[in-house]
Amino acid sequence: MAAPEMRDPIESGCPDGFQYMHPVMRRNFGLWAYHEDPRPGVLVHVSKTGEKVWTVRAGTQRILDVFTLRKLMDIGDTYGEGYVHFTIRSNIEFQVADGAKVEPLVKALEDAGFPVGGTRNSVTSLSHTQGWLHCDIPGTDASGVVKAMMDELLPEFKSWNMPNRVHITTSCCQINCGGQGDIAINVQHTKPPKINHALVGNVCERPTVVARCPVAAIRPAMVDGKPSLEVDEKKCICCGACYPPCPPMQINDHEATQLAVWIGGNHSNARGKPTFQRLVAAGIPNNPPRWPEATAIVKKILECYKAGAKDWERINEWVERIGWPRFFEVTGLPFTKYHIDNWRGARANLNSSTHIRF
Ligand code: SF4
Ligand code: SF4
Repeated sequence: MAAPEMRDPIESGCPDGFQYMHPVMRRNFGLWAYHEDPRPGVLVHVSKTGEKVWTVRAGTQRILDVFTLRKLMDIGDTYGEGYVHFTIRSNIEFQVADGAKVEPLVKALEDAGFPVGGTRNSVTSLSHTQGWLHCDIPGTDASGVVKAMMDELLPEFKSWNMPNRVHITTSCCQINCGGQGDIAINVQHTKPPKINHALVGNVCERPTVVARCPVAAIRPAMVDGKPSLEVDEKKCICCGACYPPCPPMQINDHEATQLAVWIGGNHSNARGKPTFQRLVAAGIPNNPPRWPEATAIVKKILECYKAGAKDWERINEWVERIGWPRFFEVTGLPFTKYHIDNWRGARANLNSSTHIRF
């Protein structure tokens, strides 16, 4: 019997990025000497060989439809040199080897409604988790919060007025893909889940849900003669972890699902140790489509940071220098009992593993 014909393997991983890079970037990989910032949103990198490449960074609405992408690609083909990439905060960057093309490219982007900026000591594009568009468990539309806030923070994106770089993130649940940042706007559920007992037996794998709860607050129970679950509400920390594997345990609520603002998170260990963000405002209404209450708090924090921080201090460094009591004083945010982390499980999991010791 003939041997079966072998087919080539299908590679489904991340493709080699070099093939998409501007030729000047490819040629000078590992040879860059320095970079300069000629104006907000524009960088020029200079190689040890003398070659230069200019980068023009623009903000978008982040969730991009195909028409917007085509418009951006047309601008890249007409005014740039056909090379782009996206930053981790979803800014689009165009690379050109001819400095004379920078100003027409900036004008074309601005004319088409894409602000140029987001470099150096600016508020760069906010990052967000998926929100209502892609995920089945969000308590708010993180991408909508971002759009509403970015509209208000546009002047800070296009200028260099901040003491240092500001990264803002939003997150539509507390348990999965949310990030931390200099300022983070995160969902906070404030009431335990409500159980639709009629559906649990058909929809939920009960042992999985019981195992999922971080504080062992869920128990199997028989309700009206049917297998269901019950929640010990005294133990429940309203994290929302039980809702994804068991949608009949609905935790999203028009009023009880709120937003909270955290500040001072920093992943980088470039100049100091990485830092965890800390809660500064809770109980903020989850108020689409423009979330004005959350935006007002973020703007107030930025205003105080801009007025009070020394040059190149990040938000966490500014607060560490002036002290938390002073932070609440200058921002006018109330300090409440909710700012005190008295969760009894904290001792066992927060910065207590040998893997995260600073
Ligand atoms: S943060 Fe949570 S709700 Fe939002 S997209 Fe990620 S998993 Fe879904
Ligand atoms: S919300 Fe969190 S703590 Fe409460 S029952 Fe569900 S998994 Fe447990």
